[in-house]
Amino acid sequence: MKSTHLKAYKFRIYPEGEQINFLARQFGCVRFVYNYALELRQKTYEETGKSLSYYDTAKMLPVLKSRQETGWLGEVIAQPLQMAMQNVDDSYRRFFKGQNRYPRFRCRSDRQCFKLPQGFRVEGDHLWLPKLKTGIRIKISRQIKGKILYLHLSRTTTGNYYVSFTCEVPREILAGTGKDTSVDVGIKDAAILSDGTRYENIKPLKTLEKKLKHRQRQLSKKQKGSKSRKRQRHIVARLHERIKNLREDHLHKITTDIVKNHDTVAVEDLTVKNMLKNHCLAKSLSDASLGKLLTQLEYKCDWYGRKFVKVDRFFPSSKTCHVCGEKKEDLTLADRAWACSCCHTMHDRDVNAARNILREGLKILSGCGAQSDTKQKQAEASPPGESVKPEAKAKQKEKPDA
Ligand SMILES: [Zn+2]
Repeated sequence: MKSTHLKAYKFRIYPEGEQINFLARQFGCVRFVYNYALELRQKTYEETGKSLSYYDTAKMLPVLKSRQETGWLGEVIAQPLQMAMQNVDDSYRRFFKGQNRYPRFRCRSDRQCFKLPQGFRVEGDHLWLPKLKTGIRIKISRQIKGKILYLHLSRTTTGNYYVSFTCEVPREILAGTGKDTSVDVGIKDAAILSDGTRYENIKPLKTLEKKLKHRQRQLSKKQKGSKSRKRQRHIVARLHERIKNLREDHLHKITTDIVKNHDTVAVEDLTVKNMLKNHCLAKSLSDASLGKLLTQLEYKCDWYGRKFVKVDRFFPSSKTCHVCGEKKEDLTLADRAWACSCCHTMHDRDVNAARNILREGLKILSGCGAQSDTKQKQAEASPPGESVKPEAKAKQKEKPDA
């Protein structure tokens, strides 16, 4: 296990006047260089059948700067331009590995961003960038820990600016708590633990969501191409952004709390797409927040030295009585509580499901010696059609913060 991990700290920044122009130029140049490198690689491949490397394209930067028609590239910070070319290279690599789509050209209306590895500093509530004579106001909401590797500066489509510092942070192995838990995602609550603890969805979110619905209805009535439609669309986009931020903050609080207070965290491996096909659930669950809850739990377990286990989504966790194992086949989504026909225990739907997931998760972990061995044990432990799988080691990727 590595002794450090990457963690990103994201803050909002408030550029003004000339700073906005400066950033716009920087975004524009980064976009230009990115598209230039992409086009050059495409053309070279079409004409010669050869692939260009990052170094081949990077050699072009000084040439472009010396040309009169692209001389303005010399007026902005240089490193983000190299980073943009590296980005093209990374995109190609991922494409050839089958990890993503073919890289596409960037356009002005997208979210804009650039990456900067050095030359910046934060002093008090100001962020200083190279080549910019004034400091940009930044709202630092919590202490940055570890060594800063680079920053990412972005402008959303709604015109808000954010900066994210990616840091190398020492791994903090927490002391054992003697408690294990499983997390289920409910319809009404954000998360339910197997001991009955419920994390509610936050109220401001509900108010905002109501507002969003109202605004969206208004938007649909506006005439296409009209000015007021454009204005309305901007309002809707801003509401979306606020809801997204609030939800993320709340999720981080929940997942940190869960991971800090338990040694093992078991979750149901839900495929978000499958879930959203069910309209009743889709209404109250956002696909994004569900997926995020699970990923956050996984990487935070890795950060803090906790065990994380996923239980196969075909495991009938809601329908099975956690006391005697009897299955209630006719359980519907509307049934919030039910009584077991065999042992007569009264069940809360979500808590019962969470308890089953925990038991299944612990079963998987206890069989975890060698992988092949585990499979055999699982086959014995679970009835046909209820296969369970051990989760591969948490991915060592950059993750947004705690
Ligand atoms: Zn029972």
